[in-house]
Amino acid sequence: MPAEAPIYDRVALIGLGLIAGSMSLAMRRGRLAGEIVGTARSAETRDIAREIGLVDRVVDTAAEAVVDADLVVLAVPVGAMAAVAEEIAPHLKPGATVTDVGSVKRAVIDAVGPHIPEGVHFIPAHPLAGTEHSGPRSGFATLFDNRWCLIVPVEGSDRDAVARLEAMWQGLGAHTDEMDADHHDLVLAVTSHTPHLIAYTMVGVADDLRRVTDSEVIKYSAAGFRDFTRIAASDPTMWRDVFLTNKDATLEILGRFTEELFALQRAIRTGDGEQLFDYFTHTRAIRRGIIEAGQDTDAPDFGRVKPE
Ligand code: NAP
Repeated sequence: MPAEAPIYDRVALIGLGLIAGSMSLAMRRGRLAGEIVGTARSAETRDIAREIGLVDRVVDTAAEAVVDADLVVLAVPVGAMAAVAEEIAPHLKPGATVTDVGSVKRAVIDAVGPHIPEGVHFIPAHPLAGTEHSGPRSGFATLFDNRWCLIVPVEGSDRDAVARLEAMWQGLGAHTDEMDADHHDLVLAVTSHTPHLIAYTMVGVADDLRRVTDSEVIKYSAAGFRDFTRIAASDPTMWRDVFLTNKDATLEILGRFTEELFALQRAIRTGDGEQLFDYFTHTRAIRRGIIEAGQDTDAPDFGRVKPE
């Protein structure tokens, strides 16, 4: 349902990739913003954004983009947040809200927080939605529909400003929840960061077996491996920054993962079918829980349409 009045009069999107582009399209769909101004680092991305009308107005710098903006969204890789925050700080409107969409929260709070002037609200957030595509042409209006957006208020965050940002995310189609930054980083290390690392590794292992890469691995990748290759096609800059900035939580989960892997490895070596069966029964139940929570489809092969 489109909002009766825009939630923010002017929104500035810093970065014009998958997430910002999808936000712009979903904001238009819900009429959530009076005007959407956007900018990106490269002239090439800004030109594409202009050409496809991704936002209402494209400007050349982040400093220009935030002038008079009521909501500023930092939608650049986590490692680039500090420099962007430093650039925009002197130009922020008093009473504005600065938020981000970074996949890691503690590092973003530490990097951005010190630059936010008095009288400006800083409310980090993270939409749990994405694809392996990136860039200004990759966004789509339904990306956040029925997905979660975690809001991570910092100490002293203004409750009205938090409520307004939550209303924005709900207008974008997402469910919202609040979470503490460290808890967020641990949960995401389990649900997203470590699985990505495992996918990157598995694809790397397959590639090491060069003898098969050119033939069988590609030809017969209809099984689970194909999903690994999709995840491992995700943006290298974004994922480099995730692991550099969520180091402790990722290493903690990787440690646990390795222990479990060794346990299963031993079960295979010793022929302990009961342990394997019990383990897989338990994990199958987890998948059912995800479907029951409406976070994925029950259709075989994720509902993919088979090529003719
Ligand atoms: P994206 O499609 O690659 O877009 C990134 C944008 O940031 C581009 O406009 C890029 O500009 C700009 N940028 C890159 N490096 C920069 C730098 N050093 N300084 C200033 N701007 C820079 O990325 P995305 O997927 O939208 O991700 C944006 C943020 O959302 C990241 O923090 C990521 O962690 C988070 N996130 C991503 C996903 C996902 O699945 N993709 C999901 C949730 C959250 P140019 O195009 O000009 O290079």
